[in-house]
Amino acid sequence: MKLYYDLHLHSCLSPCGDNEMTPFNLVNTMKVFGYDLIALTDHNSCRNCRAAMQAGKAAGITVVPGMELCTSEEIHVVCLFPDADSAEAFSALVRDNIPPVNNRPEIFGEQLVMDDADTVLDNEPLLLNTASYFSIDEVPALVAQYGGACFPAHIDRHSYSILSALGDFSEDLPVAAFELTMQADEAHYRDTYPALKDKLLLRDSDAHYLENILLPSQTINLTENTPQALIERLRQGI
Ligand SMILES: [Zn+2]
Ligand SMILES: [Zn+2]
Repeated sequence: MKLYYDLHLHSCLSPCGDNEMTPFNLVNTMKVFGYDLIALTDHNSCRNCRAAMQAGKAAGITVVPGMELCTSEEIHVVCLFPDADSAEAFSALVRDNIPPVNNRPEIFGEQLVMDDADTVLDNEPLLLNTASYFSIDEVPALVAQYGGACFPAHIDRHSYSILSALGDFSEDLPVAAFELTMQADEAHYRDTYPALKDKLLLRDSDAHYLENILLPSQTINLTENTPQALIERLRQGI
């Protein structure tokens, strides 16, 4: 089935995410806009994923639990998981592998953990938008251990991307999908980088504010509308 997707979205848990971007507001806005399948991918944490999945179940939209992990090379990688338990286990591992620096909400913004009805459960004390201790070379296997799949984020951006950090793609990196921004010229990237020729190229909004949410334009073919089917598709490439 052909599904409208956006697999890179932030909530109020990301320091740079708007406090209005609650799991409930995000999920219900995506539903109203006509999306079938979305992923919540806060910086270095999955702590709002369970609430977003519960809100998604009530609204009738599939929510994939995920995270935008920052590697030690400052490469952003979108990591997606089959269920909330595996996402939270991975999130706990990442929390133990980021610098022990406390957030300063007045500078970086609050990091709100919420339930599916906009009740604040916690304000995450550790600053989440730091580089973790995991290298890009070890992330795909690590994510797979938790049943998930991952793809390097916004590869055409000039910061926090695999190209800005490394200059090229390693043929050995075991990922089958990459993400472009909405503005990127896909043909240019396929022509310039032969390593991308059999890869799935996705486009997501990376929305941090409700007003950044776009009308659906990108589709993906899955056997069914579930996180597991998406993860299997992400492992296949083209
Ligand atoms: Zn990013
Ligand atoms: Zn992002």
